[in-house]
Amino acid sequence: MQPSEKALVPFVSVDNMMRLVHHIGVERMITDIAAQIEADFKRWESFDKTPRIPAHSPHGVIELMPTSDGEAYGFKYVNGHPKNTSEGLQTVTAFGLLADVYTGYPTLLTEMTMLTALRTAATSALVGSYLAPKSASTMAMIGNGAQSEFQCLAFKAMCGIDTVRLYDTDAAATEKCAANLAGSGLSVVKCKSPEDAIEGAHIITTCTADKKNATILTDNLVGPGVHINAIGGDCPGKTELHRDILLRSEIFVEYPEQTRIEGEIQALEDDHPVTELWQVMTGQAEGRKDDRQITLFDSVGFAIEDFSALRYIQSAVRGTDYYEPLDMLADPDDPRDLYGMLMRAK
Ligand code: NAD
Repeated sequence: MQPSEKALVPFVSVDNMMRLVHHIGVERMITDIAAQIEADFKRWESFDKTPRIPAHSPHGVIELMPTSDGEAYGFKYVNGHPKNTSEGLQTVTAFGLLADVYTGYPTLLTEMTMLTALRTAATSALVGSYLAPKSASTMAMIGNGAQSEFQCLAFKAMCGIDTVRLYDTDAAATEKCAANLAGSGLSVVKCKSPEDAIEGAHIITTCTADKKNATILTDNLVGPGVHINAIGGDCPGKTELHRDILLRSEIFVEYPEQTRIEGEIQALEDDHPVTELWQVMTGQAEGRKDDRQITLFDSVGFAIEDFSALRYIQSAVRGTDYYEPLDMLADPDDPRDLYGMLMRAK
């Protein structure tokens, strides 16, 4: 028996996601997703919020990230396995789902590895548009792995960055990133050390992967007035910045309850003051106060960003062939006759 039309769930595969990104354009899509994230952060109070649910192992972490605005429910499944690249596998992979709160039926299933890179870059640049110095033109990009090109293009599209200074402990990653950014309109400088990378940078993005309390930047490297976009510290025991940098910075976070567990601020006391980004976006809290202040986005990635990205994809694929209908709900004609449906299928 063919499932009825209403029971089919739109599924966006990796192939279709890539077709969609090419159709829309990377920078345009990042900018559009950022607009959706900003709109959702501005209605922060309408969301159910909880720190994500991790399953830690010596190998990495697997996390579920749920939220709902009362009408739609969404979650992302995502892993973080820094050791994976040495085995030819990705550090981060993800997929996600949207459902209708009224029926509980799924309304979208999609790959989210590509989408996570886009939404992380969108969030970073959105936050940068509030906090980075307005005249910023140069960004240091430390950690040149899977997320890095997306980060660079997001800051180009949304914060006016024209130069990126790349550094990675693995020179091959820097070569890959530089090659991928050729022709993007960005000036790309390959650097041999973190010190070299942050030379003249107004924005410093750290996006490394190592399951330890790393010190990608030491305090003496960070001058006044910069904006730090710290992406890679997103798990207990996995951070990137020296504590002294945190003590000199005004720290901005997505959701404090999650960031205190996972972010750079796990190195600080539990009551260390932080500013919530949704409050900056709604005008309830101040962003950058002056041109000597160090602003720090202690990014860990929050479920509402994924919800925004899922909603964006749902509307972007509607009426297109960028998805396949997936038979993942039983949906018998008589809703109580599940067994009869099984027997009739024999
Ligand atoms: P990746 O493994 O593809 O790339 C990480 C890069 O960091 C590698 O090229 C590695 O050589 C480099 N690196 C490691 N230690 C370094 C050091 N000390 N100095 C300079 N470079 C170093 O990983 P990815 O997918 O690009 O993700 C990067 C990080 O961002 C991960 O830790 C991931 O968990 C995190 N992440 C955060 C968010 C968020 O929302 N905050 C979203 C996605 C990924």
